[in-house]
Amino acid sequence: MWFPAILCPRAQLFGAVIQKLGKQLKRAQFWFRRRTRRTKIAMEIVRPQSHRNSLSSANDAAVAVPTIPSYRSAPPLEVRLEDFESFAIDRLRVLKGISDGMSRGKKQEEMEKLVKDLWRVNMRHQHASEVLNKDIISHFVLRLVYCRTEDLRKWFLSMECALFRYRFRSLYTAEAQRAVMEEFDLSGSAVTKMEFQDIKEKLGQVARSMGQPLPTLDAIFYKVPFEEVPELVAGRKVFIKQGYAYVAMNQVVSFVATLFRSQLSKTLILTNRKWTSSIREQEKHRLTPIVEALCSSYLGPDLSQPREYAEISLKDIDQIAKSSFPLCMRHLFDKLKEDHHLKHGGRMQLGLFLKGVGLNLDDALAFWRAEFSKKVGLEKFEKEYAYNIRHNYGKEGKRTDYTPYSCQKVISSTPGAGDQHGCPYRHFSEENLKAALSRMGVNSRAMEDVIDKVRNRHYQLACTLTFEALHGVPCDAGINHPNQYFIDSQKILQPKKDSSA
Ligand code: SF4
Repeated sequence: MWFPAILCPRAQLFGAVIQKLGKQLKRAQFWFRRRTRRTKIAMEIVRPQSHRNSLSSANDAAVAVPTIPSYRSAPPLEVRLEDFESFAIDRLRVLKGISDGMSRGKKQEEMEKLVKDLWRVNMRHQHASEVLNKDIISHFVLRLVYCRTEDLRKWFLSMECALFRYRFRSLYTAEAQRAVMEEFDLSGSAVTKMEFQDIKEKLGQVARSMGQPLPTLDAIFYKVPFEEVPELVAGRKVFIKQGYAYVAMNQVVSFVATLFRSQLSKTLILTNRKWTSSIREQEKHRLTPIVEALCSSYLGPDLSQPREYAEISLKDIDQIAKSSFPLCMRHLFDKLKEDHHLKHGGRMQLGLFLKGVGLNLDDALAFWRAEFSKKVGLEKFEKEYAYNIRHNYGKEGKRTDYTPYSCQKVISSTPGAGDQHGCPYRHFSEENLKAALSRMGVNSRAMEDVIDKVRNRHYQLACTLTFEALHGVPCDAGINHPNQYFIDSQKILQPKKDSSA
């Protein structure tokens, strides 16, 4: 049975209570409660897990041994609302870092180092005893966030599996690895040195048949009941003796990761069903906005205010648009100059970007007026469009100071007929994109790399490669925000201009 998820903004607490509901499929329930009343949320899980590493206690020793939970059940614990969101964002930074690393084609060793660093930087906690809790809570929150569409599920599944693999490989001891195997009900034991000597020849034959190097004395093998590894048995990838399969460490990683993947895949579908059938509606005023915003969260620094290099005046805008605007903004800028008009989505995307790079309200009004009045006339501009510009600057309506859109937001927009907003790497046809890149000055070699990333749907990476091709310097952090593109570009171009002056 599923329950709606409810967060309490005042008490800022939610609790998680697990109920075991059957032998095969078990489900967890997160309870969010107020001091005076209690409401609850559930997340789908497959079978209960025994948390030998004591989840909610302050027992630091319990988490001293590095481990990976199997995430089969949500633990019963209380979490502050702000942690609910911030833990998820921290894990998202790790997953996005992995995604960037993979799409940049990093090698296995580079990826191992990257994942280790990402995990160390983002998933730490001031209390050692809370590290494991943070790991589990962040995973369950992101399940809710990423269960909602096929694309989101695919991405989350593939990043979580990659993370799992790298973490499993980096477990220091055979004991820690065995503990994880037990979480997956794989009841293996490490093969002793003496036993290894007895079967060394047979293990060597199997390795030879798969074209792998012969196992050495320090190689780790596990002995597991053969029915637990049917794929390895069917593929004749293991030596079997007296009902036990002798599984090499590299096979264990892939086998455990496959189990992890299949369990997570099932639970994401179940979570999605519950999300659409009840949770989304019941939580529309509290949890739903947080969950919906999380997958398009911008994870970089605050770029809503103009910075050192981010101030433009009207007289420079044409030249600066050419040199430092990312393609999404350059396209809108050019279209505005050409048609003297942009539809609402385009006005918002470009208008907030210009505000973020330092165009003040008076200049913004003058800029839009100069273009729009050519098409709709001065009177209509003042009546119908000037209000929205002042509104963006927080001078009308609710007086909210609106912030520029991140790449995630721009990429996930859905431009209709006649709209010019969105991310060209995602929304342009290949032919149009090539033409636009060529107008920007991207050479044909770099263009091939950019188009290759676009075909693989790595839009921000395609934008990063464009930046690198145009500026001639690497952009290791990647492009995450159109205003970041602008600032980074100005940082490179401004000193060059100053020194040549
Ligand atoms: Fe704009 Fe970001 Fe797309 Fe680049 S990746 S074009 S900055 S939305």
